[in-house]
Amino acid sequence: MVATEKSDRTRLMRHSGILSSKALEIGPYKVHYLSGGRFRLDGGAMFGVVPKVLWNRVAPADERNRIQLAMNCLLIEGNGQRVLVDAGVGTKDDPKFRDIFAVEHPESLIEDLAAIGVAPGDITTVAYTHLHFDHCGGGTMKGQDGAVRPTFPRAHYLVRRQEWEDATHPNERTRASYLSQNFVSIEKAGQLVLHDEDIEILPGVTMRSLPGHTRGHQGVFFDLPESRALYCADLLPTVGHLPLPFVMGFDVFPLTTLETKRSIFRDAIRQNWLLLLEHDPDHLAIRISGAEGKAHFEKVA
Ligand SMILES: [Zn+2]
Repeated sequence: MVATEKSDRTRLMRHSGILSSKALEIGPYKVHYLSGGRFRLDGGAMFGVVPKVLWNRVAPADERNRIQLAMNCLLIEGNGQRVLVDAGVGTKDDPKFRDIFAVEHPESLIEDLAAIGVAPGDITTVAYTHLHFDHCGGGTMKGQDGAVRPTFPRAHYLVRRQEWEDATHPNERTRASYLSQNFVSIEKAGQLVLHDEDIEILPGVTMRSLPGHTRGHQGVFFDLPESRALYCADLLPTVGHLPLPFVMGFDVFPLTTLETKRSIFRDAIRQNWLLLLEHDPDHLAIRISGAEGKAHFEKVA
């Protein structure tokens, strides 16, 4: 029994190009998981119309009804570049904010980079899936003088124009997620690059629209021979969100999310994609099988 499990795991690791618990090979690229820290969000808001009796089994709520979430960012190395995908919540927030969201270890993004010998000045591109605070906060930091600056001084920061428009013109429903301190200094520093369409960030690696969570929300697709992978961002934040109707209450267009999930899951199952998860506290990467409406997963990392 133990021997079978072990050889299964070995087979999986070889198949996926897992280099260690925090790095894998996807095609010619070395992909590192970086922790942007952990935080908590209201469990009800995380599961939308799903009753608590169902979601609480997979994501137990604390005394303030919050569930534990990770902020797993990616560093993609290859082709002479170092691309950071999302940046966690960052360190600029005041104690009240940190308490509301139970923010833990937001500084680990920079520590994880240092642990693999990468300094902030080595990052060539920062690619944002969207501009919610838990995805882009770490891309800027407060200096000793109290001024906010880009954390990665030599990087271009890629943002989809639709997302930039929505983040800089928030409404009553979206305002709490779009904090201007997380992105205005990027534009001021001349490091902002807006893109209108899907964009190839490295050969075979593309930021593509995954609409629903926000209009401009996107994921990172690795379309490499024999290595298909997707960094799902908020389309599939945790394995608890695998059932199609388990869509976040935060999503601006939940029915669009439902259709995006359906079509992505269909492709992911048919083509055996590796799915990289941003918010799951226990699973960094999975593969799914079965039917898209009833997908099963196996943990890869
Ligand atoms: Zn989000």
